[in-house]
Amino acid sequence: MTKYLLEKFKELVPYTPGEQPQGGFIKLNTNESPFPPSERARERMKAAFDKLNLYNDPENAELTKVIARCYGLDKENVLVTNGSDEALAFLYIAYAEKGKPFAAPEISYGFYPVFSRLVGAEVKTFPLKEDFSVDEEAFIDCDDNVIFANPNAQTGTFMAVEHIERMLSKPRLVIVDEAYVDFGAQSVKPLVKSRDNLVVVGTLSKSRALAGGRIGFVIAAREIIDELKLIKYSFNPYNLGRAAEALAIGAFEDEKYFSECVSKVIEAREFTDKAVKELGMVTVKSQANFILMRAPGIDGGELKEKLMERGVLVRHFSTPGLSPFIRVTIGSMEQMKTFVKVLKNIISGA
Ligand SMILES: *Cc1c(COP(=O)(O)O)cnc(C)c1O
Repeated sequence: MTKYLLEKFKELVPYTPGEQPQGGFIKLNTNESPFPPSERARERMKAAFDKLNLYNDPENAELTKVIARCYGLDKENVLVTNGSDEALAFLYIAYAEKGKPFAAPEISYGFYPVFSRLVGAEVKTFPLKEDFSVDEEAFIDCDDNVIFANPNAQTGTFMAVEHIERMLSKPRLVIVDEAYVDFGAQSVKPLVKSRDNLVVVGTLSKSRALAGGRIGFVIAAREIIDELKLIKYSFNPYNLGRAAEALAIGAFEDEKYFSECVSKVIEAREFTDKAVKELGMVTVKSQANFILMRAPGIDGGELKEKLMERGVLVRHFSTPGLSPFIRVTIGSMEQMKTFVKVLKNIISGA
């Protein structure tokens, strides 16, 4: 560390992304889609290539309109971002600081505490309930701005919309990170039309098979979108490049492919949940594209290592509460059958 780094950043603990090995593994560790992006996205991106010498539209007007149309909203309700991580960063920069934290679930997306510390806000969390679901009453009762993923990250549990509506009746921001909502949960995006304190964050990284394209978005009342634009235009006006915008438009244009991919993931998830339970695993019921699970008698870290030795990569978190578990991304049916076979061998000691 040099003497130049500011004091306030010396203790910063950054987000730790999942491993990204170059091939050789069945990769079930970072909740990506097992399927390639839509062909339509490829065509769109090819067409964008010829204009890459020119700056992109800083408003990303075309994609903004496509997203607004997809969710039945106005383009003024949408801001596109460089991954939803950037959307979250803008939200923390705009609305959180020391003495003004966002309350979040204790077990959730690992970036929330990182952004809190980056902007100098306290890390304020509420424990999950016994069944690993988010404690909606704690969020309804508190007066802070709140943020949570729904379905929640790492657990896959889903909070019913009626609880979110109750949170919205207080004058504070309710930020719902819907990274996994397409895998069988209910979205609160339509509520943005009538609620000026609801912020929904979305991504094309999971259900639309574009993790490497880095495309996310915010859905909110016009005033909030305008405030987030203050941050965006003070930071990185061309935040979403031409290639990414073209990919995203292509992905949204191919609804058929999108729903096919999502259905396959849901089918593979239900297969996996049942199959691993038959092997004696304990699972948390998931509405997302991953399952949190543990093997009685084997620690999560050890199980992750054993799977890795056999060519299957899953995620393990050593944080309290999660260390007995592994988080397994749902891949294709074929990948999940292999995963179950490998897991069976490990459990039976073969
Ligand atoms: C994956 C994920 C994100 C980040 O998505 P990007 O759009 O790839 O930056 C945000 N929130 C949650 C809960 C996630 O799981």
